[in-house]
Amino acid sequence: MHSKPTINVFWFKRDLRILDNEGLQNAIESNTPLLLLYVFEPSLEKNSHYHQRHWNFVKQSIASLNQELNPYKTKIHCVRGELPEVLDDLNNTWHIKTLFSMQETGLNCTFNRDKKVKKWCDEQNTHWVEHINNGVFRGLTNRAHWRDYWTNYMMQPIKPFTASEKDFVAVKDELLKEIPPQPVKLEGIQEGGTKKGIAYLESFLKTRHKKYQQTISKPEAARLHCGRVSPYLAWGNLSVRYVWQRAKQAKTLGASAFQINAFTSRLRWQAHFIQKFEMETQMEFKSVNKGYHVLEKPLKATFIDAWEQGKTGYPLVDACMRCVTETGYLNFRMRAMVVSFFTHHLWQPWQAGAQFLGRQFLDFEPGIHYPQFQMQAGETGINMVRIYNPTKNALEHDADGSFIRKWVPELAELPTAFCIEPWTMTEIEQKGYDFILGEDYPIPIVNIKESYKFASTVLWQMRRKSSVRIESKRILAKHTLPNRENIMDS
Ligand SMILES: Cc1cc2nc3c(=O)[nH]c(=O)nc-3n(C[C@H](O)[C@H](O)[C@H](O)COP(=O)(O)OP(=O)(O)OC[C@H]3O[C@@H](n4cnc5c(N)ncnc54)[C@H](O)[C@@H]3O)c2cc1C
Repeated sequence: MHSKPTINVFWFKRDLRILDNEGLQNAIESNTPLLLLYVFEPSLEKNSHYHQRHWNFVKQSIASLNQELNPYKTKIHCVRGELPEVLDDLNNTWHIKTLFSMQETGLNCTFNRDKKVKKWCDEQNTHWVEHINNGVFRGLTNRAHWRDYWTNYMMQPIKPFTASEKDFVAVKDELLKEIPPQPVKLEGIQEGGTKKGIAYLESFLKTRHKKYQQTISKPEAARLHCGRVSPYLAWGNLSVRYVWQRAKQAKTLGASAFQINAFTSRLRWQAHFIQKFEMETQMEFKSVNKGYHVLEKPLKATFIDAWEQGKTGYPLVDACMRCVTETGYLNFRMRAMVVSFFTHHLWQPWQAGAQFLGRQFLDFEPGIHYPQFQMQAGETGINMVRIYNPTKNALEHDADGSFIRKWVPELAELPTAFCIEPWTMTEIEQKGYDFILGEDYPIPIVNIKESYKFASTVLWQMRRKSSVRIESKRILAKHTLPNRENIMDS
């Protein structure tokens, strides 16, 4: 028998929402007073995949959740500490009967932490219930039925949030090492919270989607016409099911089916990639196709620095890198292009760039990020090898140079042709524009004609190797649908 009061704990992870949080609803319905918990883990805060902007987004999300919880006279108890010690602390006051949380497909560090939590739960006789998140399933060995599972999951009706004050633990603040989250408003960066997420979603479904497909590849216009719900999905302010169902509804109310279908397909890719990461535990560290483990790419610090700082001498690459550092967002094509530039033209291992970009993306989601990084690096063996030409992309997708001018002010005063290809200026032209290539803006750090030739020769040679082909067969059998539709080749 326990002399301490018995409680259940709902541990918020990347599911910072009340709306369509079935784990939370189940926890409330368990008829045991519920403590709502968020743990700021110092080991995660200093992990190099993360940036202050992520924790600020989490704090904004918690502040917004606390507002929603006002009617129930409770709030989320925020504790700074490591798990499972935090649970130990709580267990000094209460007996935790059941711990509820989402099933997290995360980095190795969160996986190891979860293993410790599991051990702790077993030792303390605490039941740990993990609920499925966004249609990603644990324990699958292939994709034979995955699409049906995913669709069924998305079609389930969303239960309304029902709770009352007595469902929650009445806690005295001094019992918890509570730190009131103090979010700040970061200029130019999307703000956390379900309300904000819904505002982005609704404005997309109402008007912004009308130019979705036409602008999805354009670095400037995509910021306006894409959904922009990714951080809200990554941190769980919105469930994919909610977004998917609202999008389907919008079509019945007159939104363009052509545009909305393209959006909802991507919502399926979201889970498809995370499912892949879930089933390939080494993807954070090594290429999923083992045939590529022998690929040699010597690290070159000057290249890595230039790429990170947006000083490669290729204006569109530099604009993208500076923009993502400042705003936490880039559209898909530009993400693919900067990764291709890093791994193909600069011939750097994808592992040397993945954490840096993870830190910049406000929507950093390990299960999308790593599979996408490897796919864009051309190291899966099953996808097209795409080596992006940054100049061609600038001419096609930033034809008037407005995105480049915004993020690379050194080039702002030049005519568009020189703004996109400053190295084509003669000395006289440079004098005329009061601009010195190599001083005002870098000379290109690589010759992309040569780097293209080198990278494509090596990567296509690799592709023909038996070690790569054997692995490709394994990957196709494990991660594609029975009709061989390769939905990763997007
Ligand atoms: C190297 C690289 C790294 C990436 N890292 C991440 C990441 O950490 N987190 C992340 O959410 N997305 C990542 N993406 C995928 C994609 O770029 C973003 O999801 C998208 O740009 C987000 O913008 P949006 O919400 O306006 O997308 P929309 O076009 O409006 O799409 C709607 C939703 O579908 C999902 N989605 C869209 N495109 C993809 C895709 N190609 N693969 C998987 N899901 C997709 C996202 O959840 C997105 O919010 C990465 C892409 C690349 C090339």
